[in-house]
Amino acid sequence: MINSNFLDLKREYIFPIIEKKLEILDKSTVINLGIGDIAFPLAPSIVQAICEATEEMGKRVIGYGPSEGYMFLRKAIAEREYTNIAPEEIFISDGINTDTGNIHELFKRDSTVAVADPAYPVYLDTNIIAGNKVHLLPCTEDTRFVPRPPSYKCDVVYLCSPNNPTGVAMNYQELEDWIAYAKKWGSILLIDNAYAAFIRSKDVPKTIYEIPGARDVAIEFKSFSKTAGFTGLRCAYTVVPKNTPFFTLWKKRQNIKSNGVSYPIQKGALASLGCLEAEAQVESYLAQASRIKNSLQNAFGGIDSPYIWWKTPQGLSSWEFFDLLLAKCGVLCIPGSGFGKSGEGFVRLSAFTTEDKARFAVNRLSKIDLH
Ligand code: PLP
Repeated sequence: MINSNFLDLKREYIFPIIEKKLEILDKSTVINLGIGDIAFPLAPSIVQAICEATEEMGKRVIGYGPSEGYMFLRKAIAEREYTNIAPEEIFISDGINTDTGNIHELFKRDSTVAVADPAYPVYLDTNIIAGNKVHLLPCTEDTRFVPRPPSYKCDVVYLCSPNNPTGVAMNYQELEDWIAYAKKWGSILLIDNAYAAFIRSKDVPKTIYEIPGARDVAIEFKSFSKTAGFTGLRCAYTVVPKNTPFFTLWKKRQNIKSNGVSYPIQKGALASLGCLEAEAQVESYLAQASRIKNSLQNAFGGIDSPYIWWKTPQGLSSWEFFDLLLAKCGVLCIPGSGFGKSGEGFVRLSAFTTEDKARFAVNRLSKIDLH
């Protein structure tokens, strides 16, 4: 009766383990660089837009909205972020987590799926639950922590750039290689671009659709979560080009399963586009990322992303290094092994913190001898 695929979820669930380790410490002395959540309150102009929209609902009836999202938001996104995507191809949702977790419904049951190792957990876990055959693509120092196209066919490929957890973003050439792969094998690329707002490098595209041919083979996921502090509000969007057969399927799926995202939240998302206060928050996270990264040796990422991927010293395991940093510096990180086998030997530091805390952490980290 039950879906026994759930029993195949073998991932070590790291957060309860971390909580247990914290129990014996004075939490107020710990600097949390593990967290992947925002560190600043919502920008005032976004708050205002949400309040005004809610007041509007007290004056006139605004009931169910369109399941694909309001056109005012889809049009604004298309105009601001894309040159070759139509508003109808943009589907508003309550989060990338929801959409990347559900997209497998569009693919036939015995699809072969490629997922990077390490990776944000939802791609692998939802495909295990669906019973799909998953190939892991190791991302190591040798591959620049970027997944490389394999020599065999995978129907579906999940890519995340800028990457969580490694903090490394894929450049034009690396993404062009994946588009060539998808065209060769008839695959579909699913690009999680949650951290698009953090991209600063000239050789990293802001969207996959900057690359010729991407409209034929790529679906892109973006979110207001990290761009504008919406983790607690929930608003994101998925771009499904009409060139792909998945446009009709996703539209149908959303119509069947979703009654849309609330009107005030979509008004807040609209207000966040071009919001200078929100942009300043992203700049601040990036400044902390560079502050932390530049103070470390053997640290990667942190340029187009708020995450730093730090190689453990002296061959320590991810958990051993986690314990050492917590005990000696009172700094909390996330063990890289929690994101997959190839994450072993690394920890993830997050720059979702304030300047004060980042300076404090850097100071503490500088005092331990790692050699
Ligand atoms: N994708 C990646 C790579 C993430 O790091 C996160 C959040 O940490 C998400 C998706 C979740 O995004 P959302 O808040 O839009 O569900």
